[in-house]
Amino acid sequence: MQLVDKAKHQGSRKRLVLEIQEMGIESQQVLDALLKVPRHFFLDSSFEDHAYQNKAFPIGTDQTISHPYTVAFQTEVLAIKKGDKVLEIGTGSGYQTAVLFHLGATIYSIERQHYLFDKTKQLLSAMKIKAFLHYGDGYEGIEEKAPFDKIIVTAGAPSLPEKLFMQLAIGGMMIIPIGTGTQVMTLIIKTSNSNYRKVEFDNFNEATFRFVPMLKNKQ
Ligand code: SAH
Repeated sequence: MQLVDKAKHQGSRKRLVLEIQEMGIESQQVLDALLKVPRHFFLDSSFEDHAYQNKAFPIGTDQTISHPYTVAFQTEVLAIKKGDKVLEIGTGSGYQTAVLFHLGATIYSIERQHYLFDKTKQLLSAMKIKAFLHYGDGYEGIEEKAPFDKIIVTAGAPSLPEKLFMQLAIGGMMIIPIGTGTQVMTLIIKTSNSNYRKVEFDNFNEATFRFVPMLKNKQ
């Protein structure tokens, strides 16, 4: 695995981060974390030129690396603090995982596709990014590691997954795209074991927030 971050990559990354900032991301910590993660490591080298464009991109087996702005948005909304215990559903390429790592989170991440799980495990370890990677069904969460301060779902769910809500700490936050046709980016703030406050971000360009579906069971 060749991991080279050249000046030209860094230059393109700065331009991308500036673009994301202009789109409304204000958190300096999030912008700094994006600057630190060489996004081209997460794409096959033949697609390197696409790494610093503000778009989602195929990563194999019908899955996509999330749109950079979407990663920034979901991360900013969760206001990740150093030491936060974060559960990520849909490890995919590991790009979002790497961004969370640079914000100081303790990360548990679940992926249901074995091919991606293996590939990303290797990459993150080569990059010295620490995260607990699980091969399994994200709908189940990781009960023995609950409660989580924050949960980030990077696949579109038909509705709020019950077990994930149960595994969220009281006062914790979950960001999740909900819906089968049109997806609405939704923030869940857990106020008690049976109650939550919901904020829907529906004023976004649909193409930006289009997620692959969250599917049941492993593959
Ligand atoms: N955060 C990733 C986004 C990948 S796309 C990145 O930045 O690259 C969403 C991922 O969710 C895919 O890899 C898909 O396989 C995975 N996924 C879909 N349903 C899932 C489920 N039930 N449990 C775990 N992962 C799931």
